[in-house]
Amino acid sequence: MAKYIFVTGGVVSSLGKGITASSLAKLLQSRGLAVTCVKCDPYINVDPGTMNPYQHGEVFVTEDGAEADLDLGHYERFLNIDMHHTNNFTAGKVYETVIAKERRGEFLGTTVQVIPHITDEIKHRYRLVNKGMDVVIVEIGGTVGDIESLPFLEAARQTEMELGQDNVLFVHVTLIPYIKASEELKTKPTQHSVGKLREIGINPDIIVCRTEKPLSNEIKAKIALFCSVPRESVIEAPDVPSIYEVPLVFHKQGLDEQVLMLLRLRATSRDLSEWQHVVQRIHNPKGDVTIALAGKYTELKDAYKSVHEALAHAGLANETKVHIRYIDVLSPNLEKSLEDVHGILVPGGFGDRGIDGKIRVVQIARERKIPYLGLCLGMQIATIEFARNVLKLSGAHSTEFDPKSRYPVIDLMPEQKNVKDLGATMRLGSYQCQLKKGSLAYKAYGAAAISERHRHRYELNNKFRKLLEEAGFIISGVNPAKNLAEIVELRDHPWFVAVQFHPEFKSRPQSPHPLFANFVAAALRRGQEKPASPPSPILYA
Ligand code: GLN
Repeated sequence: MAKYIFVTGGVVSSLGKGITASSLAKLLQSRGLAVTCVKCDPYINVDPGTMNPYQHGEVFVTEDGAEADLDLGHYERFLNIDMHHTNNFTAGKVYETVIAKERRGEFLGTTVQVIPHITDEIKHRYRLVNKGMDVVIVEIGGTVGDIESLPFLEAARQTEMELGQDNVLFVHVTLIPYIKASEELKTKPTQHSVGKLREIGINPDIIVCRTEKPLSNEIKAKIALFCSVPRESVIEAPDVPSIYEVPLVFHKQGLDEQVLMLLRLRATSRDLSEWQHVVQRIHNPKGDVTIALAGKYTELKDAYKSVHEALAHAGLANETKVHIRYIDVLSPNLEKSLEDVHGILVPGGFGDRGIDGKIRVVQIARERKIPYLGLCLGMQIATIEFARNVLKLSGAHSTEFDPKSRYPVIDLMPEQKNVKDLGATMRLGSYQCQLKKGSLAYKAYGAAAISERHRHRYELNNKFRKLLEEAGFIISGVNPAKNLAEIVELRDHPWFVAVQFHPEFKSRPQSPHPLFANFVAAALRRGQEKPASPPSPILYA
């Protein structure tokens, strides 16, 4: 039987519950246990696919085509295993299921209520992932005290009642704020949030304290006393330069030992060496490159989470620190901001704001022969730019942005034209792709057939394929089943690869994605030709 660890958050949001859950999962995995994670989101959207990334950050895509919370990306990257649609669910999904059952008459004669019907459905979903697992870590989104997260917490409380205290553990992640004026760390907010948890019948077993200053023994003892946990169960989570250090920070404080003891689990191994190797490489880069990221959501780092991580992993593959420079695509000064970069990346995106700027960015990459990696929309933009500026098809566009374009080089496939509901109806999840021998993509992957994850509606319009190819636009990857162009390259360019899918979702610190790794390698070569780029103010490790 799988044991359960519930991770809750107190005081404020954005405390890094996802990193805490992933790091704990990594530690338990390193002790030889089979571990998976589940993320519960208490909002009413059925999935995050219809939300603005400004609010919610990136929408992560699983192999099986679920549009999911970005924490699933952390779980995959830390655990090096694939997540599925069952690893993330929202209050909206739970209510949708319960209401559909009610309409089918499955609760005939009863009043359908939050307790037990909604909580039963939540518990059912907690159990969906436990097959073959020793431990399931459930991260409950939101902050304790929010109205919306109550049913999830109640379902967690019931889980402990049903499975017993030896089989369920509560980890509360909280903030210990530092008051500059009095030079003091404050524990009161933590006491209050633990109090809130107790009100609903949950006694946390472990308190993870986010803090910008080291916690003294005195403070730890105080937290332990007020929260009724042993002193060893107060774990310090300081700010660290790289999220990948967090498992090591927890391990040093004996978190894995604590959890094993509390859950009466026996470890079969203790091997964090591979992970230590990753962290060691993060700290010892031998060079640097600056990559321009030309997207629309540059104010919120989380909007491009997986792209950031994939670039950092590619840095590891090349023993290089990757500096990311955000480019405001609405700025009239694009030339200047791209002057000294070693590579340009246009990520995925929706909506027409900033499209002209992105076309100009790709033009600069093509003409100045700066290494270019286009992701999803970044491939569509590359196609539009080539059609307009090389083929001279004036007004060439995607029908997403100009439905009446004379040259719709990017267009909807017939099945997308019939789509009415916008939720979960894009081309989603993993698709096969056949690579052209001798292409940059073929060299990068070292294979003729690959599969990658998709999330888009529009495709390269096959009517223009011949015209494009004759002018030096190489279609180097094709989905064989649907004959769709998946990867494009340029004949007369040192490294220009744009893909219709999202390779960033499959990159992991232990196995950096080959396209990102080759892109950063090309950027390094560019740096050797054109050195002395001042490091960008925005650093990313
Ligand atoms: N908006 C484009 C489409 O739907 C690209 C989507 C993306 O970049 N993820 O096809």
